[in-house]
Amino acid sequence: MQISITKTTNPAAKPAPDTLGFGKIFTDHMFLMDWTEGEGWHDARIVPFGPLSIHPASTVLHYGSEIFEGLKAYRRADGQVQLFRPIENIRRMNNSAQRMCLPQIPEDMALEALTEFVKVEQEWTPSAPGTSLYLRPFMFGNDESLGVHAVHNATYVLIASPVGSYYKEGINPVKIMIETEDVRAVRGGTGEAKCGGNYAASNRAGKRAEEKGYSQVLWLDGVHRKYIEEVGAMNVMFKIKGEIVTPALSGSILPGITRKSIIEVLKDKGYTVSERLLSIDELTAAMADGTLEEAWGCGTAAVVSPIGELAYEGRQYPVNGGEIGPVTQMLYDTLTGIQWGKTPDPYGWTVQL
Ligand SMILES: *Cc1c(COP(=O)(O)O)cnc(C)c1O
Repeated sequence: MQISITKTTNPAAKPAPDTLGFGKIFTDHMFLMDWTEGEGWHDARIVPFGPLSIHPASTVLHYGSEIFEGLKAYRRADGQVQLFRPIENIRRMNNSAQRMCLPQIPEDMALEALTEFVKVEQEWTPSAPGTSLYLRPFMFGNDESLGVHAVHNATYVLIASPVGSYYKEGINPVKIMIETEDVRAVRGGTGEAKCGGNYAASNRAGKRAEEKGYSQVLWLDGVHRKYIEEVGAMNVMFKIKGEIVTPALSGSILPGITRKSIIEVLKDKGYTVSERLLSIDELTAAMADGTLEEAWGCGTAAVVSPIGELAYEGRQYPVNGGEIGPVTQMLYDTLTGIQWGKTPDPYGWTVQL
């Protein structure tokens, strides 16, 4: 693939590590390419970071045809920059594209775009503990017409943001409210796709939970309103009577790469992992009789986020006395060790630039 590169004449100063939040600061450049039906992908380019110019009738602004990904570049102690399972993000983006009638990107082309872009921006990968360069690939339908149909034009963009440590003050277990009104996704809908619309639809429940003093909601399935699906925008796992349980990928759950990696680590270490239906009745029974040992959310941003309290229909249930449990801690240490290159990578998950 031919990528034209136009460097900025006005590079920004690198931010101090303690000023990094999440997704507020962006690097000097961005990658773009366009897709036109019949012609395919064209005009791959790395250009100075800046606003996009979009036609007011562009499909994405009216009908929400947008998908995205999220992954990180990590700086190792030896100064090398590495990615964690980037091919998984590329494959998932193509699955999301298929669901949303957006064009797929050949895997080798997507990987080349990603690695070439990160090479250009690699100096932006911070080195303070827990910090990383967050990469945000996204794609949107870009027909300049109000007709409702699968698009004939799309744009793919890659931007990058140096981000701070998710756990600046240590890993704090969060309080979660079980959502009984709104649903995030339904089977046959777009829950399996990483699309912006899923987030727009889930904001109301998240906002209400925050107003009540909770960090996020635990989603139940949209049909029976009975089976656990995800927590906020993370996958969720529980340790009940020694068994690690996580909802099976039934069509309305986002197939997380952290989820997949954790399952592989747990099986490798000899734990019993079940991907199955987990009903709210089973969970509340385990909370009431004390057999719910640990609970955590998992995703790229936090790696794991221990759940210290669950609230359901006005009742509060502490989990592991509000403390992070040993399995949750082991998973955090194992994954972050591999991601930052602090421990060997027996799984071949990391890709050095
Ligand atoms: C991105 C995302 C996840 C986590 O996926 P990772 O690949 O582990 O980062 C989980 N649930 C939802 C809804 C998501 O959008």
